[in-house]
Amino acid sequence: MKFVSTRGRAPSLSFADTVLTGLASDGGLYVPESLPHFSRKDIAAMAGMDYQQLAFEIIWPFVGEDLSERELRDIIGRSYSQFRHRAVAPLVQTDTNEWILELFHGPTLAFKDFALQFLGQLFDHLLEKRGERVVVMGATSGDTGSAAIEGCRHCDNIDIFILHPHNRVSEVQRRQMTTVLSDNVFNIAMEGNFDDCQNMVKASFANQSFLPDGRRLVAVNSINWARIMAQIVYYFYAALRLGAPEKTVNFSVPTGNFGDIFAGYLAKQMGLPIDQLVIATNANDILHRCISDNDHTPKPLVHSLSPSMDIMVSSNFERLLFDLYGRDGAAVAELLADRSAPMHLSEVALLQAQKTFSSYRVDDARTIEVIREQYLATGYLLDPHTAIGVEAARRVRRSAEQPMVCLSTAHPAKFPDAVAQALPQTEIPLPAHMQDLWQREERLKVLPNDLSQVHDYMATMLSEGR
Ligand SMILES: *Cc1c(COP(=O)(O)O)cnc(C)c1O
Repeated sequence: MKFVSTRGRAPSLSFADTVLTGLASDGGLYVPESLPHFSRKDIAAMAGMDYQQLAFEIIWPFVGEDLSERELRDIIGRSYSQFRHRAVAPLVQTDTNEWILELFHGPTLAFKDFALQFLGQLFDHLLEKRGERVVVMGATSGDTGSAAIEGCRHCDNIDIFILHPHNRVSEVQRRQMTTVLSDNVFNIAMEGNFDDCQNMVKASFANQSFLPDGRRLVAVNSINWARIMAQIVYYFYAALRLGAPEKTVNFSVPTGNFGDIFAGYLAKQMGLPIDQLVIATNANDILHRCISDNDHTPKPLVHSLSPSMDIMVSSNFERLLFDLYGRDGAAVAELLADRSAPMHLSEVALLQAQKTFSSYRVDDARTIEVIREQYLATGYLLDPHTAIGVEAARRVRRSAEQPMVCLSTAHPAKFPDAVAQALPQTEIPLPAHMQDLWQREERLKVLPNDLSQVHDYMATMLSEGR
């Protein structure tokens, strides 16, 4: 399968080159030239498959030229072996026709493990075949960093450097990163804010001469195609358990960069009977304003109780725009020429989007109420991101009969502050495998916001013995 850029001017690439490249040279994002399609009969035949078998069926058509069947099965097997629930992505019923899809049973307690466990295994395998070693570098305000570190810690062909703003990530999130003591994992606590970290990563990708010979930087951010692809699987998995392909199933997704919900859109395009996808946002509501009012104007970032959705502009939205504009790369390039400027969709594009997508915004005060109400009514504890998805689903669902699945993107123990505001009397213990998190040894390097000092540190670490 070939992959093309959403801006239409970069060369098309194979699957392997696409995942190792990241951003296209014309500034666009890679998408498949065409999607595989599963008939009702194909989907019916998937009923009863376990998570790993199903993942193989969904992913195989994308990768067939670069991996053998055996190789892909091994990669998938290793990717989901660290999950603590045998169902990998279990469903929990919270109302007559409402379910929670628990995506937090991976090593770092958030849904990003689904993509990053897979990406680490995939990278390592492709690099081994090419005889190449790379350096993963990324900035994090929390969830992505720990998931990326867990995904790469056992990879022989990767060294990983994650920058986080010193003293500005939560203690759970910091410890999830800094207590991984593998000798290919490096945590840099930078004296600055998250933007400073991101700018440092961007500057490093632009000039990589500080790296030892033969090494290059690779990105693991959510624009990587393999991350989106791995997330398509759990939409099929949940829908099959609720009666697809006979039944239509809908989903509500706590949304930041639009990666997770875009995977749901792809599942629908590939034949899964989905009618409605709900974009649930916090106060950072650019996508809600776009879908409901055709107002895509970037506004200053608001720090909310659901920090993993605090985003000014959602990068993966570009992939949807490409489809809405008839896969015309030039039209997308024109629309996105200035990402900080207000953008308005054409009437045709907006109506097309509204056929599938609804949206709703939930503020912090309501988020806390939803956590409390849900717990008092059913004893089920929602994390703040999931609470936003649940509330949005209840507000804008179109059908009371069709099952609504709310994606639970994080375990409540990961965001104890929000839960404590909702339920001051309630203890939320970390899951068993993390109970000793507070006792584990930490390793990190504090560095000033200075490009050459960061580069010197990286070069030294990379030349020491490895
Ligand atoms: C990353 C993240 C999100 C947002 O996902 P996107 O793919 O960026 O839309 C939501 N909730 C949690 C807990 C996350 O870590």
